[in-house]
Amino acid sequence: MIRNLRISGPTALPDAVRQAASVQMVSHRSEEFREVLAAVLRRLRPVFGTQGHILPFTASGTGGLEAAVVNTVVPGERVLLVSIGHFGERFGAIAKTFGADVHSCRFPDGEVADPSVVRAALRRHGPFSSVLLTHNETSTGVINPLRELTAVVRQESDALICADVVSSLGGVPVRMDANGIDVAVGVTQKALMAPPGLTLLAVSERAMERAQRQRSATRYYFDFGRMAEAVSEGTTTYTPAVTVVFALDAALRMLEEEGLQKVYQRHRTVADTCRNGLRALNVELVAAEGYASPTITALRVPAATSATRIRTELATRFGIAVASGRGAWKDSVLRVGHMGWVSEADVRDVTDRLRDVLSSMTRDPATARALAR
Ligand SMILES: *Cc1c(COP(=O)(O)O)cnc(C)c1O
Repeated sequence: MIRNLRISGPTALPDAVRQAASVQMVSHRSEEFREVLAAVLRRLRPVFGTQGHILPFTASGTGGLEAAVVNTVVPGERVLLVSIGHFGERFGAIAKTFGADVHSCRFPDGEVADPSVVRAALRRHGPFSSVLLTHNETSTGVINPLRELTAVVRQESDALICADVVSSLGGVPVRMDANGIDVAVGVTQKALMAPPGLTLLAVSERAMERAQRQRSATRYYFDFGRMAEAVSEGTTTYTPAVTVVFALDAALRMLEEEGLQKVYQRHRTVADTCRNGLRALNVELVAAEGYASPTITALRVPAATSATRIRTELATRFGIAVASGRGAWKDSVLRVGHMGWVSEADVRDVTDRLRDVLSSMTRDPATARALAR
């Protein structure tokens, strides 16, 4: 039995959210449901930092990335991909699937995107119709300098900015409007403390106009225009994940009660506690200090141990679930999620138990000394 779910999502649900998710079904066209949907969309505004459209599609985050692409890109268009890892690559793969001519600015795993390199790419390889980027790269535990990156795109071009904010939304400020983001893609099941089921897209007027003009693009379900029209009438295009809307309403109410600034501060504090606890075990962190994600920490597992074995031990002996690395890092990196409903005690539990697990495994003298302290 897992009692401490420290993966990159879905995340644990607070009691109030679980209760909200257990109510009887209602018609999604009823007045009752319309009121809840309106409250959810209103409460999401400060979380995205936008006055623009907020469109809830029933899908996972990847569906949201696809929605962003199919509404803004037509085949053959030049798109700049700014990628720092697995989820950046996924965004690019979706754009390629729908026929975009993708120029990739790929930074090494574990590093952030360098705004000056992005500027050079915009000058040398542009013009681009859109720029795709990831705010928080969940696969490496790295957070991009969103403000600097979006500023460079805005200075150098009039490309639309599509940002994957899936693992930052609700844990880190996104400041959609202030940063000039055109499409921001979030989900319910990460820092927003709700079950999986909805992808939430904040869409600027510019992006909405682009979508309206590009009627020839291949899409039906994910059409921005039709969803915006439905939302303006207090409903959704098709049957939404009703349960998830109820749960999200309760979760957003909790965020409001705590206060968004306090929520963001809590994420920073918990992330610091996690990293300090890991450093005390002489464990190497993937992200450099200034770029470490407030919502997830990636660590290199000490030599002579394996990520899979550590994960199994943490789960079977202590009921703690952490995530493995991605791709080539599958067995050399572990990731500790700390987004959503999380406290310092939750991450201390991980580092304390990790100490127990490592001390029974490691043969590295420096690590053994650190663990013995
Ligand atoms: C989790 C995640 C996704 C994909 O989410 P799904 O809901 O599993 O489709 C996309 N981008 C980032 C950065 C993520 O962390």
